[in-house]
Amino acid sequence: MISILSPKAFKKAAPKPRRREATQPLVERMAEAQTHAQPTSQQSPPADPSPAPIISISQISKTYPNGTPALQDINLTLNKGDFLFITGPSGAGKSTLLKMLYGQERPTSGHIHINGQEITRLKGNRLAMLRRRIGVIFQDYKLIPRRTVAENVAFVLHAQGYSRKEIDRRLPLTLKMVGLQDKANRFPSQLSGGEQQRASIARAVVGTPPLLLADEPTGNLDGDNARQVFSILRKLNSIGITVVVTTHDEMIVRQLDYPVVQIRDSRLYNIR
Ligand code: ADP
Repeated sequence: MISILSPKAFKKAAPKPRRREATQPLVERMAEAQTHAQPTSQQSPPADPSPAPIISISQISKTYPNGTPALQDINLTLNKGDFLFITGPSGAGKSTLLKMLYGQERPTSGHIHINGQEITRLKGNRLAMLRRRIGVIFQDYKLIPRRTVAENVAFVLHAQGYSRKEIDRRLPLTLKMVGLQDKANRFPSQLSGGEQQRASIARAVVGTPPLLLADEPTGNLDGDNARQVFSILRKLNSIGITVVVTTHDEMIVRQLDYPVVQIRDSRLYNIR
């Protein structure tokens, strides 16, 4: 359930630190989720039924150092397994909000807890460790041009110290999940935009993060490719990954029955 909480209510809902999640089974479930995602009402329950919020945002405001006000008094809570659309006009502050969720920007005031940890206070290694548990995808894919699809995806696991054996186990399952098992050895320039975005999704989820943030993931794609990307995001959500998507794509937002918030004039509004 998504809720925009008052600061008082937030205090009650603020999560306690939790033990490290078991990530092993998720990659198998990703592989099993080969068929189209089920409608929202028929989705299987989230991986971890704990009611502790995965994201708690309390009274966030952000003004950039040059004086640009981006966000004001934002409160938002997401539970594990939620799927949320963040909409709003260009320049409204959608990317800024996502950047704060993965620790690339810090709020000017307020608090953000991710899985019980206050990301706004973390630095160095501790921030890096938390970021490993957050998958991020971008409008422009951000793949490494001189690496193949397989290398782009495996790179994340290498960086996180996974064994060769575990990398060899995860890679084909994840590429299959995004339909790129036959294009593992292609370079990004040899892929369509839709395929590049699917490779970037594989890279974001190969480490089985419980949270996936997508910043305008279909902004550069045509209708068919956009639908494919959302089908994968729904699959990932159906196996328990919490998904937050910023988008301009009103048609997709209308078609998919997920909660929607809008950022307008720096503030967050509940739309659906
Ligand atoms: P959206 O994602 O909704 O298009 P952004 O979060 O990118 O909006 O931007 C929100 C506001 O903050 C805009 O006015 C934008 O120009 C400004 N902004 C974004 N990044 C920076 C930055 N690094 N420095 C200064 N202003 C910024």
